[in-house]
Amino acid sequence: MTARFDSPKAIITGRGCRTQAADLLVSLHAQRTFIVADSFFASSVFLNEMHTNLAVKGIAGDLFTEFQPDPTDQNVLAGAERFSRFGADSILAVGGGSALDVAKMIGVAVANPGPVHQFQGYDRISRPGPPVVAVPTTAGTGSEATKVAVITDTSRNVKMMILDSKLMPTAAVVDYELTFSMPKPLTAHVGVDALTHGIEAYVSRKANSLTDPVALSCITKIHANLRSAWSDPSDEQAREAMSLAALQGGLAFTNSSVCLVHGMSRPLGLVFRLPHGLSNSVLLPTVTRFSWPGAKARYAEISRAIHLASDKVSDAMACEALAGWLDQLNNDLQIPRLRECCDGDVARFRASLEKMAADALESGSPQNNPVVPAASQIVELFELAW
Ligand code: NAD
Repeated sequence: MTARFDSPKAIITGRGCRTQAADLLVSLHAQRTFIVADSFFASSVFLNEMHTNLAVKGIAGDLFTEFQPDPTDQNVLAGAERFSRFGADSILAVGGGSALDVAKMIGVAVANPGPVHQFQGYDRISRPGPPVVAVPTTAGTGSEATKVAVITDTSRNVKMMILDSKLMPTAAVVDYELTFSMPKPLTAHVGVDALTHGIEAYVSRKANSLTDPVALSCITKIHANLRSAWSDPSDEQAREAMSLAALQGGLAFTNSSVCLVHGMSRPLGLVFRLPHGLSNSVLLPTVTRFSWPGAKARYAEISRAIHLASDKVSDAMACEALAGWLDQLNNDLQIPRLRECCDGDVARFRASLEKMAADALESGSPQNNPVVPAASQIVELFELAW
């Protein structure tokens, strides 16, 4: 089997490294940078400081914050219009996965006019956009190092997965200091999102020898640090480890794939307006129990890598130990059950099941799963997670 590993041209990590974003933009010959930033940071010291650093280097900046969490095609087009009006030549993206994804797609939309849904799926982007320097502020999606953007098509109410190597940011600047302000629920949701990336990258049918060590390193860091980052938001060592794990999760899944959890999580999140990490979290234990019989040895390796099982027990017992730990983790992080996330609206849940299953399959992610489900099995899994 051949393998290919894509990544940003430069990855910079460490406390305070955000100050190097301006130098990176200089090296990319930027003169006018479109700053796409999460509104949480719009008037923050961090962003002011980055703006000043650009000015010191002679780079003009225009700030764009008009997009929502789980961004839409309309957000992308509005951003592309502002980018062109400003005459920008580069993008600095600061925020969670939503900011990074909308920024990547603004660049694509500028270079490839037309509706955003034309890019849905694999390798549908003709021309690359301007260089993007991505600065994540959550420790979750890994979008700073992925060839992926997730954008909602408002006309069809579908969360589109757009996958193309032209979406890989030019540089990733991973400064964990930006994550200290995350409240506990956000830390939990994005942390389990990163864990899901690591696990799915490792058990995927597209897993390979280049992604395996990166995925396992992501998983072991999260096992050792997510609880600490959640219980003590100022735990510097845990925050740093979580930011690195999220980066590794992104690198791993973008060069392998995500699988059934993500396939089911996108439509679920859209119907019930759940944050992406939360919709992953409520599905992960159930989908793991369904999937491990298809890749027993792989799931057992994960379980042993984080010392949930010894070499002496069977693979099946190791897999069950892993699923049990995922339940326990959700419990410890106070992640509610699916029915609680949906306010117990069982009628709406039942009415949505078939479309959610069809949308999951259409995304292509379940086809990478160790056990490839039929639509009826996806419906059953949603019901089991309820
Ligand atoms: P997000 O970017 O949607 O942000 C969630 C909330 O957290 C927002 O209200 C935001 O203002 C706030 N926030 C962000 N950083 C903060 C901080 N440091 N302190 C306090 N608040 C902060 O959340 P996310 O989970 O990072 O991104 C989710 C999006 O990314 C979804 O649309 C998902 O589908 C997508 N996604 C993309 C990829 C990819 O590879 N491109 C992978 C997984 C998920």
